[in-house]
Amino acid sequence: MPAILIDGHRQEKTLKLSTIPNWLVKKFKYMKNIILFGPPGSGKGTQAKKLLERYNLLHISTGDMFRFELKNNTELGEKARRYMDRGELVPDEVTIAMLKARVDKAVDSEGIIFDGFPRTVNQAKALDDMLDSKDAPIRALLLLDVSDEERVERILLRGETSGREDDLDEGIIRNRIEVFNNETAPVFSYYRKKNLAHKVDGMGTVDEIFRRLCDVLENL
Ligand code: AMP
Repeated sequence: MPAILIDGHRQEKTLKLSTIPNWLVKKFKYMKNIILFGPPGSGKGTQAKKLLERYNLLHISTGDMFRFELKNNTELGEKARRYMDRGELVPDEVTIAMLKARVDKAVDSEGIIFDGFPRTVNQAKALDDMLDSKDAPIRALLLLDVSDEERVERILLRGETSGREDDLDEGIIRNRIEVFNNETAPVFSYYRKKNLAHKVDGMGTVDEIFRRLCDVLENL
């Protein structure tokens, strides 16, 4: 049963949602909006899938969205292609507009898992503005902490089955890691200053890592 925010305070008592008028539920629904954060190959996609099985959350992956656009040869896909092919970031204005349209359509989940977004501080600020206007701010950023060697190994392994070209070329993989270090890593500090950043050990089995993530989520 989700906790409810009343007058800004989290009520620990569980309330039966069916006894509360709909408008109140909508207004005070305590959304668990989280950012699953980490460099390429840190396991965000794998863990996002498991989190969805346990919690009623919506998964928004900007990488998946771009791949969908590419596959369908849309105008947006065309815009993104040359950046993705090189392992570079698609420009903020394109990415933010796509994300905003998706978030605006998200109504009935208990929260959103953002996967692969935000990747720049500029995107983080845009996301915060977007969610603040809905009274549903980011509750936590979870960093999956994985060693460099382990990540490159995981990406190459994934490339064998995913067919993702940017997972098969070591030059592109290295570029993605460099882009992460230069442009995306500052997003962690941005949320740390807001006391929302959590570092989670991302080494070990999928289930071990999942349990660590659940521990953090359940204590939010
Ligand atoms: P991912 O599946 O998250 O690794 O994303 C694959 C590629 O999509 C990235 O290398 C970028 O080219 C592009 N992309 C995904 N998310 C973003 C984002 N938030 N900002 C800019 N580019 C992105």
